[in-house]
Amino acid sequence: MANEVSKLIQEFSKQFLIETKNPYNSTPNTKIITDTLPRFIRDGLKLDKKYKVYGSVGSGNWSEIPWVAILDTSISKSTTEGYYVVILFDKNMQEFYLCLSVGWTQFEQEFGTREAKIKIRTTCEYYGNLLDTKPSGFNKGLINLHAQNKLGKGYEVGVIFFKKYLISEPTDELLMDDIRQLLISYYELKMIVGDSILNLDLDTSTYDKDIKDFRKRVAVGSLSPNIEKEILKLVKIANQEPPEVMLRLKKEIVRNRKFANYVKERAHYICEICMRGPFVQKNGGPYAEADHVSPLGGKSRGLDSPDNMRCLCAQCHAIITHGSDIEIKNLFE
Ligand SMILES: [Zn+2]
Repeated sequence: MANEVSKLIQEFSKQFLIETKNPYNSTPNTKIITDTLPRFIRDGLKLDKKYKVYGSVGSGNWSEIPWVAILDTSISKSTTEGYYVVILFDKNMQEFYLCLSVGWTQFEQEFGTREAKIKIRTTCEYYGNLLDTKPSGFNKGLINLHAQNKLGKGYEVGVIFFKKYLISEPTDELLMDDIRQLLISYYELKMIVGDSILNLDLDTSTYDKDIKDFRKRVAVGSLSPNIEKEILKLVKIANQEPPEVMLRLKKEIVRNRKFANYVKERAHYICEICMRGPFVQKNGGPYAEADHVSPLGGKSRGLDSPDNMRCLCAQCHAIITHGSDIEIKNLFE
């Protein structure tokens, strides 16, 4: 294999620092990131159509950290969400990183910048420890892109596995092989978390091999037919372990978070029952809750659609959910 990819990376890095002194513009050089490199990676790895390979140098403004990402579109179609394999260039264009990364923007929107850093870091560490497929030569932890901006700093913390290269270092063969290895970890992660990595229910459980395997099978929906035996085995393990070890088997209805946010926006965060306004969260944003008028689970099988949703204050939401019939009746009077 000729070293086309590695040449492109070197060429781009050299030019980019010069280019960014001028106003944002699409140039033959930036096309390396947005067109050529994605195409070479796709072809070089013979990726099938479910993968999206794309890159960015910013839109309207130069971004501090250019990148090229490989996304499994069944997980997410944009780097703001989900998790993906990505090449991140260091701000000084001296180095680049190949990472299994978690989308920063989804965490920032959900938790606010400060809280998001903790959440995304915990998430990355958690899955970094859980995955069995960390490729050799890769590390766990934070990376240093020398970023000054919030987004770039978000990239630095949202990393599960990474490998650092000097711009001039890797051959195409090495780089493609590393990407191929990392795609295996990407796949393993998908088997465990599915399409939403945001709301990891973190506890301090320690996971031994059997529990890990069990979780994986639950995640892919291919539980052994002999489920009782499986559970009994796990109960046995759980009973032998110290009390901090917990096994939690949880069935959850998948909701669309965007609808929840939309419904709150639609009501200007004002409770649609008692008209109470929102309170201000630590992150400065207004707090309200989205409620399904006809509940999603149980007999009613309500729809996860804004037409079946309303914005409520925490108090009304709690009464609607947990209150007695009389409490609920009082609420509406
Ligand atoms: Zn209310």
